[in-house]
Amino acid sequence: MKKLIEKAKKTHALNRDEIISLLYDKNCTSELFCAADEVRLKYVGDNIHLRALIEFSNICKNNCCYCGLRKDNKNISRYRMSEDTIFKLAEHAANNMNLKTIVLQSGEDLFFDCDKLCAIIQKIKTLDVALTLSIGEKTLEEYKAYKKAGADRFLLRIETTDKEIYSRYDPNMDWETRVQCIKNLGIAGLEIGTGVLVGLPDQKLESYADDILFFKNLNADMVGIGPFIPHPDTPLKDAKGGTLDMALKVMAITRLLLPDINIPATTAMETLEPNGQTKALQAGANVIMPNVTLTQYRKHYELYPGKSTTNYTPDETLCEIKNKIALIGRKVSNDYGFRKKSQLHSK
Ligand code: SAH
Ligand code: SF4
Repeated sequence: MKKLIEKAKKTHALNRDEIISLLYDKNCTSELFCAADEVRLKYVGDNIHLRALIEFSNICKNNCCYCGLRKDNKNISRYRMSEDTIFKLAEHAANNMNLKTIVLQSGEDLFFDCDKLCAIIQKIKTLDVALTLSIGEKTLEEYKAYKKAGADRFLLRIETTDKEIYSRYDPNMDWETRVQCIKNLGIAGLEIGTGVLVGLPDQKLESYADDILFFKNLNADMVGIGPFIPHPDTPLKDAKGGTLDMALKVMAITRLLLPDINIPATTAMETLEPNGQTKALQAGANVIMPNVTLTQYRKHYELYPGKSTTNYTPDETLCEIKNKIALIGRKVSNDYGFRKKSQLHSK
């Protein structure tokens, strides 16, 4: 196993069987995390990019079985921020919190059509920030319009590369369409962010290996990996959910294979364990997304329960994250945090 880890550290290439054996292995986890940490340092350095997350609408037309925002969940109060509120949050994040990226995330809310979104994007881009969208499946024309309006990046997780599990838990959605949407992000000139859930019922280690190879083949610019956390108001309420350890392993191997990309220490990791994000930052991650949504909205944006920052204000959330970063001797980056492609991936 140690040989495999050494090989991945040097060549950034592993085949499916090799990835599977690393995922099965229980004895070399700390070596795996150390190797991912070394590769992270070598390729993306010690600086951590902070991205201000604004959860601007919890209204969603989809019914993903794992997600608390699914259409059929009648137990949440739905909200939609005004354009003015969204801009004010972005302004506070940029001007007072000195954050260099704004991430706009929501359910698939059709109210925000292309024109409305482009107007918001244009306004936020006056703040001298990079802008990421995470708003679901759109047409190539729409992705191009967002890019033209100033958007830089887009997050659209594949959720799982296991098509059977995808179609089981993402009813009325189509795996091939999702893949095409993810590819269209790149065609539109946006940085491609994708990722998966770890720990859906019946998800196998073999399918995590396929997930990692999917990221590699796609040459994704950002990959977010989150443990699945069951939500009580969803069909998956009694499921076991993912573990932090497995999510970290999938993340660490992703770092070894895609050494120069941006990888967030996800909030879901922190929700499973108070030190989850710190562990992630020491096992390959180099990004954190502080939530800058106002406290009054946060409890309604419950993708999964127990989100670690629900009762905090934006300023408290940032302070907490900066403390964590300082404690492990890392620094907050003050650039926009684009992927800086190494020779390895320049095509
Ligand atoms: N609607 C958009 C963006 C918001 S959802 C979209 O689906 O792309 C953002 C992410 O939350 C999803 O990609 C999913 O991976 C994650 N998520 C949803 N429910 C979750 C749960 N129960 N546990 C952990 N992550 C979850
Ligand atoms: Fe909607 Fe995204 Fe949740 Fe699916 S994961 S129900 S698309 S918010």
